[in-house]
Amino acid sequence: YLDFDGKVVLITGAATGIGRATALAFADRGARLVIGDLSQAAEETAALAREKGVDAVFVKTNVSQSADVQALVAEAEKRFGRLDIAFNNAGILPSTTAFAETDEAEFDRIIAVDLRGVFLSVKYELQALLRAGGGAIVNTASVAGVVADPNMAPYAAAKHGVVGLTRAAALDYAAKNIRVNAVAPGLIATPMTERWLADPQISKALMANSPIQRAAQPEEIAAAVLFLSSPAASFINGSIFVADGGQTAH
Ligand code: NAD
Repeated sequence: YLDFDGKVVLITGAATGIGRATALAFADRGARLVIGDLSQAAEETAALAREKGVDAVFVKTNVSQSADVQALVAEAEKRFGRLDIAFNNAGILPSTTAFAETDEAEFDRIIAVDLRGVFLSVKYELQALLRAGGGAIVNTASVAGVVADPNMAPYAAAKHGVVGLTRAAALDYAAKNIRVNAVAPGLIATPMTERWLADPQISKALMANSPIQRAAQPEEIAAAVLFLSSPAASFINGSIFVADGGQTAH
């Protein structure tokens, strides 16, 4: 099932963390990659994929900018002739602030990347997938898209929004051979969380909240993304696939 030989996979936010691990997992299974990231460091992910013997291209992309996202999708079609799978994963965390103290500009900044970025990506990917006759999209939501984390209102709003966009797109294109799902990770050890995990007090509080008593490695989320993108998930559409070690099971 997890054979992506020759499939054209677009991934956003793959310089580090979950996106990078997922890009390399797809490359291990033969996929050709189009990587969009704001950070030039994502070129290294593309280079590592090429070392695995697959074609991979990096396109500098700010997912909150429509022209950038359109150019990214166009690159997949120009270079590889089609798009088969997209993983919309680029995201940022807000500073932790009580709701009443949350800065308006901070709210706009998080919504621009974490919600508008996914909206734009899905919109233009759907057009390419329709031209290809079908495909699969996976968005990165979060457990913060299912329940709210304390003191992170903009992130909760954006990630709950990603859940809504995922379900909406899944409904609209189910009859067109396109499946749209989201993965909702719990605590994953990436550059996004390394500051928390390095702080003994914060880390202790996070573990107290985690039935499995650890953070996941990004490869553990990559596995879920590959499954959702694969024919093994052929009847899974509009699903919010929680991968959190049981954090939201209570
Ligand atoms: P990360 O910081 O390692 O990766 C984020 C990636 O997104 C980086 O490559 C970064 O350069 C890129 N990026 C940021 N802004 C961008 C923009 N405007 N345009 C294009 N690329 C941009 O963090 P991660 O933990 O791997 O996060 C990946 C996704 O997973 C995010 O959507 C995040 O919200 C989500 N998530 C992470 C966790 C966690 O515990 N780490 C939990 C739940 C959800």
